Amino acid sequence: MRLTELHPALLDGFLEFDCPLGHPHRISIRAEKWAPRGDFPDALTLTPSVLAYDGVPNDDSLSDGQHKAEYDAAAKCGWHGFIENGEVRTV
Ligand SMILES: [Zn+2]
Repeated sequence: MRLTELHPALLDGFLEFDCPLGHPHRISIRAEKWAPRGDFPDALTLTPSVLAYDGVPNDDSLSDGQHKAEYDAAAKCGWHGFIENGEVRTV
């Protein structure tokens, strides 16, 4: 799939995008750690691959501390893949 399909955003050095696995969260990574190349978002390449242990749950109501178990469940990820020339490839 294309990165552009995952509603990518580049905010304060963090690359955020919807989870490619369809989990109810967004993945957020510090872009500089992946030696970004190419124009964001259409031609972005990150090296090496990204392994996302967790994401930022889309449901803000889980962030209040009283929903920690639900927050943790919604955050759990495990996506591993590449972003190459704007293409997202799950491995
Ligand atoms: Zn995920």
